[in-house]
Formats: sequence, C-alpha cells, structure tokens
Amino acid sequence: MERFAGKSMSDGIAIGKIFVYAKDEQVVKCTKVEDVSKESIRYESAKERAIAELHHLYEVACKEVGEENAQIFNVQAMMLEDDDYNKAILNSIQSELVNAEYAVAKTGDSFFAMFAQMEDEYFNARSIDVKDISERIIKCLQGHIAGSQIGDEPVIIVAKELVPSEVVQFDKEKLLGFAMELGSSNSHTAILARMMNVPALIHIKSDPAWNGKLAILDATEGVLIIDPSEKVLAEYRKKYEKKLEQRELLRQLKGKENVTLSGRQIRLYANIGNVKDLASVIQNDAGGIGLFRSEFLYLESDHYPTEEEQLAVYKQVLSVMTGKRVIIRTLDIGADKQVDYFKLDKEENPTMGYRAIRICLDRPDVFKTQLRALYRASVYGTLSIMYPMIISVEEVRKIKEINEEVKKELKEKGIPYRQVEHGIMIETPAAAVISDLLAKEVDFFSIGTNDLTQYTLAIDRQNAKLEAINDSHHEAVLRLIKMTIENAHKEGIWVGICGELGADVTLTERFIEMGIDELSVAPASILSVRKAIRECR
Ligand code: PEP
Ligand code: MG
Repeated sequence: MERFAGKSMSDGIAIGKIFVYAKDEQVVKCTKVEDVSKESIRYESAKERAIAELHHLYEVACKEVGEENAQIFNVQAMMLEDDDYNKAILNSIQSELVNAEYAVAKTGDSFFAMFAQMEDEYFNARSIDVKDISERIIKCLQGHIAGSQIGDEPVIIVAKELVPSEVVQFDKEKLLGFAMELGSSNSHTAILARMMNVPALIHIKSDPAWNGKLAILDATEGVLIIDPSEKVLAEYRKKYEKKLEQRELLRQLKGKENVTLSGRQIRLYANIGNVKDLASVIQNDAGGIGLFRSEFLYLESDHYPTEEEQLAVYKQVLSVMTGKRVIIRTLDIGADKQVDYFKLDKEENPTMGYRAIRICLDRPDVFKTQLRALYRASVYGTLSIMYPMIISVEEVRKIKEINEEVKKELKEKGIPYRQVEHGIMIETPAAAVISDLLAKEVDFFSIGTNDLTQYTLAIDRQNAKLEAINDSHHEAVLRLIKMTIENAHKEGIWVGICGELGADVTLTERFIEMGIDELSVAPASILSVRKAIRECR
C-alpha cells in the first residue's frame, strides 16, 4: 500500500482501478449516439482545443520560420470557425445521430473533395488544410473519449494534465475520479470537476506502473492510496457507500419529469454565466437555460465585445440546447460588476446607481450591438431575451422601441432572425408592485430574488456584516413574489424564479402553491430541486 498526498480540486471519494491516461490515436468508427446535445458539446470542445493548438503553433512557428510562414496556422484556425463547415458537422451529428468523429471525418472528406475540384489555385490549396483541420479535431476528440482504451469498467484516471474539454468528454459513467500532476484548484478543469460532482486531486505524479491497480482517491482528505490494505479498503467502502447513497438518489432523477404528486409540471432550467457551464447543464438534465448572465462576456473581455464575438457565444449556447428555451439576459453591469473599459464614474451608492438596463438605455450603441447579436443568433434555437433591473413601464416601452429599430435594420440588410419572447427580471420592489402593469407589456417574468431581497430589505447583498439579517425568506419578499405570480397569471403570462431562492428546497412547495411556472437554478442543483418538486403535493 502506498499513499500520495495531493490537493483537492473537487470533493468526494472514489474506489476503483487506475487508468493511466495517454492520448493515443484511434481509427474513426461510425457509432450511433442518443444524446446529440452531449455529442455536439464534444465537438465544440474539441474544436476549441484545436483552435487553441493552432494559435499555439502560430506563436511557435513565428519564432521558428517567421510570421509570414506561420500565417497558415491562423488561416486554419479561421477555417475551423467557418459557418458552413461547422453547420455541416453539427447537422450530421443531429440529423444522422452519429458520433462527432464520424461527422467530422465525413464533412472533412466532402469539403476536401469540393476544394480539390476548384480551378482557383488558392482554394484548391485549401483542400489540404480542410483535411488537416478535420484530422486535428478528430485527434482532439479521440484524446477526449478514450472510451475504448478505458474499457467497460469505471476507473480513476490519472494523467499529467487534463484539459476541460477532455474531462467533459470522458464517459461520466466510467469516470470515478481523476488525479493530475499539474493544474490548480481554480482552473476550469477543477471547476468542471466540481460541476460534474467528480472527486479530483492535483499534485499527484502518476506512474505508468499504476495502470490497472486498485486505488482509493479521497479528495476530502487529499490522498491517493494505491493497493490499499483490506482494512483501509473496508473503511473507505463504508465512507463511500454513504456518499454514493445520497448521490445515487439524485442521479436516478435524470430523465424524470418535474412533476408534483398532484400532477403539476414545473419547468426546471439552469443558470449559466459561460458556455463552459453548458456541460453541467446537460449533465444535470436541465430543461433549458433560465438565465444566461451575459455580462460575464463583458467582464471577461478587455474591450466591448463585438457583435460577432457575442454572436459566436449566443449561437453556441442555442445550438447546444437544440431547441430548448434559452433565456439570455442583457448586460447587467454596475454595482459589484465593474468593467474598466466602460469607465463608469465612482458612485456613492453603486447598488442603487448607474447599472444594468439604465446603462443600456443610456448607451443605445452598446445595447443595440448586443440586441443585433441576439437576433442574429435567434435562428439557431429558441431564444428569449430578458431585461434586468426594471422599475417602470416606460423603460419597457423604450426597450421595445429599440428592439423595433434593431429588427428594422436587420430586415433592411436582409439578415434573418426569428421572433423571440421578451421578459423582464422582477428584482426591484417597484417592479413587483407594478407587476400588474408590466405584465401587459411582456411575455414572461423572472423573479430575481437576490436583488429583490436586497432592495426590499434595504440590505446591500455584498455587506458581510449584515449577512445574518439578509433573509430572503422575509415575509415581505415572499409577499412580493406571490403578488408578482398572481399579476403575471392574471395577464396570462408565465413567471419563474432565477435568483438563488429558486434552489432553496425548503421553499419549493410554497412557490408551487403560489403558482410558480419555472425555477432556474445552478446546474448542480437541478436534481435536488427536481426531487423536491416530485415530493410536493
Ligand atoms: C437576482 O438578482 O436574483 C439575479 C438572478 O440576478 P443577479 O444575481 O445576477 O443580480
Ligand atoms: Mg439581479
């Protein structure tokens, strides 16, 4: 028995055989897939990794052979972003229900043939590049699945390093846990492990001789035990059984309806801030995206995200969700979410200051760029647009006017878009109180209980000193929620909750009694909320 100390990235215990992960090449086989969303995500992640590899190659080649010769890698990265190429691959996955490797190989072959036939020398030469990029994605995909290498038995994977796109594409059923030599607890691989609920350690230097050996990975204690003694194994089996029991109870709810004992259906959606959260959305079987906090796009950027940059992200979210409802909230910055390049003035009271929709209505250039990107993305799925921090009917009417202008401009340019639903966040007491009037103006409401609590109780949600009295269960908050639901229903529109309170299972029954139609929660909370719904009368 040998013990190796590591650092926990994601809590939990795994017991099983070790698989030392190596990224071998595989032959492309055609296999039928059931979960096309998961397969589409595999493809998107592999593509992302391929693009990153090409950017890296460009940097290296610049030093070795000069910028001009290195350009080919940039050209290939651009080809990987090509709409027709990507559409053809995703269509193949989604309509023929085939694995991503096969879809890429097939599309690559037909694009290769198409370019090879062209008279134009430049395009003719691109045929080799299409072949090259397709092979690169397949390589990335094969590195990820490693399913056939792993075999049927679930394993603890040890590797020098795993990138997020690899982690997300391992067959979850076969992944008991993983340990890596490199990485950090704030890396996206770590975040992904937590989102997937897979125990994981870093700072573990693997040894090929471990392959096939029995091991215990205890990410709670931060230890990997190779060849454990019978006594240690028995101890851990007990600990593990307890954790497994709790998790299994929830996992059994995947694919089940969000229905109460008396037969009421509740829509259960996920909150995301990033395309990287989509894996967890799919893993946890969310029925849609109830809140995409689009401001993270702005926060992660050092410049105003362009229309094209935004379009790429929205399109990806809509494509992955394959027709399920996706509610994208327009920019909600200000207060605690400051973005340097907006150069917002320092304010005495930023929580009640120049933020969210107030900025958008004051800066139609910024607002219209986002709306154009949203409308252009609308053709890729079922999009709803939601507006934050509303306090008046006038704001909603102004938003509608701007929407009409954007649609008119798109129409004039012949750019296609679909009809979208428009909703507002009910997160100020003003909006809740006039929800009867606001309900006449929009298609849906989503109650932002985080801000609604803050503004109703006059407690800054960032103030740690007031934590103890910052009570979302306060009767005033609950009454405003009830009033909002009633007013929405009187006008025949649906209403959800996307604030943190939506995941509070001690209130699920109460919300259902109030008539809530939808709850949108963090992906990892989906199944526990589903359980709570199914236990409601
Ligand atoms: C809310 O206020 O409840 C909400 C969902 O929005 P955010 O937390 O992003 O302010
Ligand atoms: Mg809010």
